[in-house]
Amino acid sequence: MSAKAGTDEGAESDEPVRFAHESEEEFTRILDFYRVAWQYEPRTFPLKEEEGRLVEAFTPDFYLPDLDLYIELTTLKQSLVTQKHGKIRRFQERYPDLQIKLLHRSDYLSLLAKYGFGPFSEVEVAGIEEVLFSVSELEQRVDELGAQISREYRGKEPLLVGVLRGVTCFMADLIRHISLPLEIDFMAISSFEGERGGAVRILKDLDEPLAGRDVILVEDIVDTGMTLNTLLQELQVRRPASLKVCTLLDKRVRRLVDVPIEYVGFEVPDEFVVGYGLDFRQKFRNLPFIATLKRDWMRTHLETKIGPE
Ligand code: 5GP
Repeated sequence: MSAKAGTDEGAESDEPVRFAHESEEEFTRILDFYRVAWQYEPRTFPLKEEEGRLVEAFTPDFYLPDLDLYIELTTLKQSLVTQKHGKIRRFQERYPDLQIKLLHRSDYLSLLAKYGFGPFSEVEVAGIEEVLFSVSELEQRVDELGAQISREYRGKEPLLVGVLRGVTCFMADLIRHISLPLEIDFMAISSFEGERGGAVRILKDLDEPLAGRDVILVEDIVDTGMTLNTLLQELQVRRPASLKVCTLLDKRVRRLVDVPIEYVGFEVPDEFVVGYGLDFRQKFRNLPFIATLKRDWMRTHLETKIGPE
């Protein structure tokens, strides 16, 4: 019996996993794509004893630590399915606190959908290259950032200023991890090229005055730093008591202007990323994870319109 973790850091061995069935390996490929940690056959559960002797045990195929869920995959053979249903029923009776799911191949994606990993439209599937940060990685990092801000702003009532629209998911999650009284406000901007190259135009200004406030400017991603630099200058004029920056993603390798950033979620490579609020031509914002786009796919779709803009 092998026990092994997939993307789980707590891997018990580096040996390649030997799967009993091809379908199990296929399932791990889907989990790996979504960066969902998995363990293969991690534990054997006693089900039935007779006269002190173990007569029935059950080893679920997988354990998914992020979801705290055991998974048993089924085959099409009806006799086996009935047998497995029986085992699972006895497992649930004996271990009522543990979660287990019997999954058929066609259920893989709907399970992931249920836990917020999709599904996304065919246009989106075709464009995704790689999931960089999974749902649980995002949750954990946002939780850490919220805790850090809560510590560092203790006794204060910060005003979080979000820059629309990419920041929506991050802002919504971040404020729920800050255990302080706070306020939020949003501004919408557009960068325009041309004579004033990189200049930022305010499309929707803030509703709140900043004078005397402890302001945290919340961004989805900082790339060259041009947008942020201009925004900071604009906000500084309004005389906040303090002004700091919190960005979910930092594409540091592309930085042209050195801007001070106090709180960074993750550093990202020089790739175009989408999801969790970030778009490509208004699409992909509702992916629950952050992913890179295929360059070829982007190039083709830059030439053709993929939706209303
Ligand atoms: P900067 O002025 O720092 O070069 O650009 C910042 C803005 O560019 C971000 O607020 C975002 O709108 C956009 N941006 C830069 N890199 C990416 C990316 O990888 N994905 C997406 N969706 N937007 C990006």
